Amino acid sequence: MTTDRCCVMSGSGPSNWGGNVVFGMAGAVSPGSVEEVARIVRDAGRGGVRAAGTGHSFSPVGDTEGLMVSLRELPRVCEPVVGDRDDVVGARIGGGLTYGEICPAIDGWGRALPVLGSLPHISFGGGCATATHGSGWGNGCVAAGVDEVMMVVGDGSLVRVGHGDPGFDGTVVSLGALGVAVEFIVQVVESFQVEQFVFEGLPFPVLTERLEEVLGAGYSVSVFWPLGPVADVWVKRKAGDEWWDLSGTGAVPARAHRHPVAGLPAVNCTPQLGLCGPWFERLPHFRAEFAPATGHEIQSEYLVAAADGARALEAVARIETDLAPVLQTVEVRSVAGDRCWLSPAFGRDSVALHFTWLPDPGAVDAAVNRVEEAIGPMRARPHWGKVFGMDPATVADLYPRWDDFRGLLDEYDPEGKFRNAMIDRFFPAA
Ligand SMILES: Cc1cc2nc3c(=O)[nH]c(=O)nc-3n(C[C@H](O)[C@H](O)[C@H](O)COP(=O)(O)OP(=O)(O)OC[C@H]3O[C@@H](n4cnc5c(N)ncnc54)[C@H](O)[C@@H]3O)c2cc1C
Repeated sequence: MTTDRCCVMSGSGPSNWGGNVVFGMAGAVSPGSVEEVARIVRDAGRGGVRAAGTGHSFSPVGDTEGLMVSLRELPRVCEPVVGDRDDVVGARIGGGLTYGEICPAIDGWGRALPVLGSLPHISFGGGCATATHGSGWGNGCVAAGVDEVMMVVGDGSLVRVGHGDPGFDGTVVSLGALGVAVEFIVQVVESFQVEQFVFEGLPFPVLTERLEEVLGAGYSVSVFWPLGPVADVWVKRKAGDEWWDLSGTGAVPARAHRHPVAGLPAVNCTPQLGLCGPWFERLPHFRAEFAPATGHEIQSEYLVAAADGARALEAVARIETDLAPVLQTVEVRSVAGDRCWLSPAFGRDSVALHFTWLPDPGAVDAAVNRVEEAIGPMRARPHWGKVFGMDPATVADLYPRWDDFRGLLDEYDPEGKFRNAMIDRFFPAA
């Protein structure tokens, strides 16, 4: 058995990056060609195979009792898609490449991806499968920018699904359950420069009263709130854009580089203090060349409709004594609504409330229950790649296209080869 960078070896076996999910996999393989991927899938039985990303999800979405198929040994695909006017209109990207690998190449073509999650270490395929998002009222999740996906499906055939094809809107945020996505075509924009500023000490009442403005203070904004009376605001401003200097709200500009969790060293964080740099070195919080953090954390996240954002924060503030012992910080971001059936931002502009917990699974479960009691009634949708406790019926009720996704499972994987315990629980086979 070979293990790849889809997992780390913990005391109890191969696990995710956070160490809170020990994988039950029978083995890991790294095929060298798409034909080999197809052969592995063809030979697999029920629950026998699953694409591996880089293992950064905290939920068991990536687990399998079968073979984990890493795409790291496939030929590296990162090519410009050239339009009618000889300009670069998209990028063709291998599903196993990480953002850290593809972004500098895309920038080299004078292009950019409009949105990135907080760390460049994750794979493109893994980011799409769980609807990973960054921040910005104009920025959807990473999957929303995909125009076409090429995947090896249950019978081992290679299918291409693009905009306009039936079911495309359900295909990219796949939870890994529709096939092994070997290649994507994704939209690009003109390359841009970003300046990152951190403001400290924004009073909580200002945050909730002016939430829409605060989250719109720049191209991409993250609010870090360790509970309590004040929050820090990370504003990523597109060079040359209008923005809101938060001085005057009670917040003050930080005088040194900061880490999202107060007190941790900022050495692995992207440069701040207004230092101008390329999009891919400012939109993520963490630098590609360093480990993003120690891995001593568990994460949860919920997306509510934008109009409910302030109410959700206030509801969390009311239970802060229950959360504080296990919480590192809360991150608040905005996500543009999209058309991806299983995206937590499906059909609605959203405010995302992210919780970084201490690595204490029992205490995290209790805290997650409290959060879900507080904001669940606001139809909060949990992030698929993070820890949540909602039962399948509750989650299904949040997604108008749930049954259509079930139809895609039947179409692309009738034998259930990509199924795992989480998929069986949320989408039980008929
Ligand atoms: C420090 C840290 C920061 C994070 N920040 C953010 C953030 O800013 N925003 C956010 O939304 N999330 C964030 N996340 C969560 C993370 O982005 C998601 O969990 C993402 O899915 C991880 O990608 P991965 O490559 O590690 O995928 P994995 O966790 O390895 O896999 C996730 C799922 O994708 C499937 N998959 C992977 N590759 C393919 C493929 N080629 N074809 C089909 N299915 C595939 C797997 O089978 C699995 O079901 C963060 C996580 C960490 C650890």
